[in-house]
Amino acid sequence: ATPTAVMVATGVGANNGVLIKGGDSLETAQKVKYVIFDKTGTLTQGKSTVTAARVFTGMDRGEFLTLVASAETAQLPHEYWHSETRLRKILLTLYHLILFASSEHPLGKAIVQYARHFLFFDESSPTSGTKNDAAVFKSGWLYDVSDFSALPGRGVQCFIDGKRILVGNRKLLEENGIEISTEVESFVVELEESAKTGILVAYDDVLTGVLGIADPLKREASVVIEGLRKMGVIPVMVTGDNWRTARAVAKEVGIEDVRAEVMPAGKADVVRSFQKDGSIVAMVGDGINDSPALAAADVGMAIGAGTDVAIEAANYVLMRDNLEDVITAIDLSKKTFLRIR
Ligand code: ADP
Ligand code: MG
Repeated sequence: ATPTAVMVATGVGANNGVLIKGGDSLETAQKVKYVIFDKTGTLTQGKSTVTAARVFTGMDRGEFLTLVASAETAQLPHEYWHSETRLRKILLTLYHLILFASSEHPLGKAIVQYARHFLFFDESSPTSGTKNDAAVFKSGWLYDVSDFSALPGRGVQCFIDGKRILVGNRKLLEENGIEISTEVESFVVELEESAKTGILVAYDDVLTGVLGIADPLKREASVVIEGLRKMGVIPVMVTGDNWRTARAVAKEVGIEDVRAEVMPAGKADVVRSFQKDGSIVAMVGDGINDSPALAAADVGMAIGAGTDVAIEAANYVLMRDNLEDVITAIDLSKKTFLRIR
């Protein structure tokens, strides 16, 4: 293709929200054999909602949700912890929830939203009204959190009142020696078999409750997967989520090849394993945890608002957060480079 053709294609892409970083990326896309999709936030909307919350100890439900939301909201602005008045804390909490949307992870956002709704708006909840107001407003509703750490592919950990709280998947709890009873396990399995993600919560090293989170597929997902197949491209799904949920989601969207329970660095290994026979591999992802894989792929595509890290690691940025643009990108490359053979 002539430099002019490349320029024109880049312009057409940009008009459709497909930003292409350099002519090389534009040329490689036409040769793609595998497209590896991240699950959460890429195939799914990333607009997770909590559909179930069960407490397995005697803990009050409102208390449980406040603890979990505090853990997921640990990166509050610095002034928050130093503000004297309750009003100021409440204002900063709202400011934070609106602007920073709490935890960077879609699951974290869902949990905070659910807890906030339950505690402030749910008239029918036994914890709203008089009894709970005191607890809710104790510190602008959230508890003081210390030693927070986000553990990619696992969840979050922090301390509240010197007690450890873990929020995340089985792996996180197992690694920390938390016992998971058969009652809890069967509840989690039930969630996973209906394509939901089970988030386990341990407080003071005792398994306290489980949240079930649903994350619907993007509307265009199945059609795009079918479209890719028709173009001779093989779709693959990779996720840090558990096998049962992953299989259920893959089945729904029409993907046969699934890799689950993959840590962020492992996603790059998955990409490399498909490149072994010389195949050209595209990776589509949205999160920080996808950036090693986006960088390892022949064609890295960051989708949606994405995180800065993902955008930096990618060759393509699909601004519209629409999976159809994966096909648009490949088509654009074909039209630009095949024509003049
Ligand atoms: P994906 O690869 O599908 O985008 P991730 O690798 O980001 O998923 O996360 C994998 C798993 O780790 C999640 O399914 C969840 O169980 C757990 N997890 C990650 N971050 C969080 C969080 N902030 N709160 C709770 N659980 C989390
Ligand atoms: Mg993701």
